[in-house]
Amino acid sequence: MRQNVCILGATGSIGDSTLKVLAQHTEQYAVFAVTGYHRIDKLIEICLIHRPRVVVVPKQQQQEIWQKLQQHHLTEIEILTDEDGLVHIASHPEVDVVMAAIVGAAGLLPTLAAVRAGKRVLLANKEALVMSGDIMMQEAQKNNALLLPVDSEHNAIFQCLPHDYNTTHTNTPLKQGVSQILLTASGGPFLHSSALDLEHVTPAQACKHPNWSMGRKISVDSATLMNKGLELIEACHLFNICESKVTVVVHPQSIIHSMVQYVDGSTLAQMGNPDMCTPIAHALAWPKRIQTPVPALDLFVNHHLDFQPPDHQRFPALQLAREAIQEGGVMPTVLNASNEIAVDAFLSEKIKFTDIPKVIDYVLNTVNNVAANSLDTILGHDELARHTANTYIQRKGQ
Ligand code: NAD
Ligand code: MG
Repeated sequence: MRQNVCILGATGSIGDSTLKVLAQHTEQYAVFAVTGYHRIDKLIEICLIHRPRVVVVPKQQQQEIWQKLQQHHLTEIEILTDEDGLVHIASHPEVDVVMAAIVGAAGLLPTLAAVRAGKRVLLANKEALVMSGDIMMQEAQKNNALLLPVDSEHNAIFQCLPHDYNTTHTNTPLKQGVSQILLTASGGPFLHSSALDLEHVTPAQACKHPNWSMGRKISVDSATLMNKGLELIEACHLFNICESKVTVVVHPQSIIHSMVQYVDGSTLAQMGNPDMCTPIAHALAWPKRIQTPVPALDLFVNHHLDFQPPDHQRFPALQLAREAIQEGGVMPTVLNASNEIAVDAFLSEKIKFTDIPKVIDYVLNTVNNVAANSLDTILGHDELARHTANTYIQRKGQ
């Protein structure tokens, strides 16, 4: 029997790579549902090739996609809309695997719905886990969902941890011989830029990553190092590890995707060419291995690997994320929401690149922390942080 796959965010960069992997394994997997927010033509293209049963778009695109599906004689595809549609397909009884690849907070409710329905959830949408942390992990455990990391670093860590690593132990990592996680970072496009140069960075420059081709939001996050900050929080939740045991290592070649150190002095690394098809295929088939179009690593070509600590002076976002997870409560939610607003404002040229961490710092210092003990509290603070960030940006722009 083929497994039915639902791809949340099918028109994005992770969506692309997922469809590429699935196209190589059509005997094992069927594309059941796909979603897209902006690019309707791309969604039609996907429908023509992969013939999903359901497609989800925003309500205002419903008419357009209906007409285009008719034109292409794809009349059997059901069209659903908005968050209700996303939640419906993510928890659909016929779906086995959900790829959570919507960018940002918009992915939270559908990802949580997939977790609550006990699916195999391939987690790319790190913002959803950063926001909901303990709730998402508890729901996964309660509902026997398999929450597998697609983020290349977390997928690497998962591969380097003991095969029976159990996140429900108290004092989890040490009990299982793990002393530290080394979370690698490429350093982004401005690794060698001066503080002065960073003041004049344009959105186009920030979106041009040296090793990975990604969506615009995560590209900016990689450039500010906030991506690594979000990933630090993601690692703490996924592997039940304290932030002090996660060290960020800048490794510009992105060949080692992260490492796990053990109490006996061993360091295990997962290596490969930087291509998201590898972690996607790993999470899709785990514990089996399936083929991808990614060529094997040639160490005679990629023989030079460098490592250095991050520069917190030029890239303060990483430290803000560390402080947010140290404080706990809703602070990671506030960090994520204010970052989304700041990145948007930078991409629409309302603020400078170097203003991004300033906005986040302001919001973290303005919003009062409370325990993140319900989804309502999380969503309420997400909204409050967005409002606070927008007000600060407007005031600064006057
Ligand atoms: P992208 O911008 O290329 O794609 C985002 C997808 O989400 C698109 O399909 C878009 O239509 C959809 N979307 C955007 N806003 C939406 C909304 N409000 N409601 C519903 N759908 C919406 O982004 P990406 O690079 O594919 O990244 C997706 C997620 O995966 C992000 O959370 C990112 O951090 C994570 N991730 C990406 C990479 C990568 O290499 N691209 C690596 C690791 C993790
Ligand atoms: Mg990553």
